[in-house]
Amino acid sequence: MTPTNQGSIRLFRLAGIELYLHWSWFLVAYYGIQMRAGRYPSIMWSALEYLALFGIVLLHEFGHSLACRQVGGRADRIVLWPLGGVAYVDPPQRPGAILWSIAAGPLVNVVLAPTFFLLVLWMDASGLAEQASNLFRLLRTIVAINVGLLVFNLLPIYPLDGGQILRSLLWFVLGRAWSLISATVIGLIGVVGLFVLALWERSVWLGILAAFILLNCWNGLRHAVHLVRVSRLPRHAAFACPVCRTAPPAGAIWTCGHCRNPFDMFEHRAVCPQCGVAYPAIPCPDCGTAHPFAAWTPLSPSWANPPDRSSSLPSPHPPSSSAAAGNRPYGL
Ligand SMILES: [Zn+2]
Ligand SMILES: [Zn+2]
Ligand SMILES: [Zn+2]
Repeated sequence: MTPTNQGSIRLFRLAGIELYLHWSWFLVAYYGIQMRAGRYPSIMWSALEYLALFGIVLLHEFGHSLACRQVGGRADRIVLWPLGGVAYVDPPQRPGAILWSIAAGPLVNVVLAPTFFLLVLWMDASGLAEQASNLFRLLRTIVAINVGLLVFNLLPIYPLDGGQILRSLLWFVLGRAWSLISATVIGLIGVVGLFVLALWERSVWLGILAAFILLNCWNGLRHAVHLVRVSRLPRHAAFACPVCRTAPPAGAIWTCGHCRNPFDMFEHRAVCPQCGVAYPAIPCPDCGTAHPFAAWTPLSPSWANPPDRSSSLPSPHPPSSSAAAGNRPYGL
């Protein structure tokens, strides 16, 4: 549902973040530039306008990524595609850290819009607007793009930035699982509004965007239901996560990356009971960090030394710390 670096061209690496461009971007860029053809006397300016749009999107995604890094999260990849940009960020599972990682994206547009607006005013006042009318038009459009992206991204429709900001604010009051349920339900209502708008405007583009948001919002809701289920499980009182100090849930909530068998990591000492794959680290369902079995402060000494047959094996894909929570792509 979101672009990955498969089928993408690696453009460059900046501040530890790899930038990729999905192949489909070129296809849509061709139409995007043609659509703008009437606005300028030369196609070069139309192309510049289209590139400016993605330049702004890129800065927005860098805002998410750098803020995520700042709060101790992982952010190493941005993929640009026709629907915009996706920053692969994995902030620590705390409402404040998530709030800052999300808010930093729109804040980039909050800074860019008045900056370019001042430039437009200055060109107008100095008479440059008439001498360089194409540049003037481009800069005016850049202001409009920033305002448009800001308004759209701040719609409270999960997983748009506005929906995720709403979710992290609700987290302070409702907790992790119920804040996500509330935000995704509000998001599903909002997405109906987007579909109606797409029909009203007869916009295929908005329809595609709404479908993409709907799929991600639905996945968010499914993940939230899973979180509620996990929060109701009894806990392995003999263990605690070295980071968040929470005792892990007792239940088959981790899924083996090899055989897809759900099992309880702590009951089986990080070894899948079905296929025998041993896992070098167990992801914490509460904070998302992963730690070797022995690091989960065992209270009973007999648990302290798990068999070490794990180093070259793949890591698990536990449902509780998977896409919807941690490595969620942000932004459009
Ligand atoms: Zn297995
Ligand atoms: Zn934890
Ligand atoms: Zn964003």
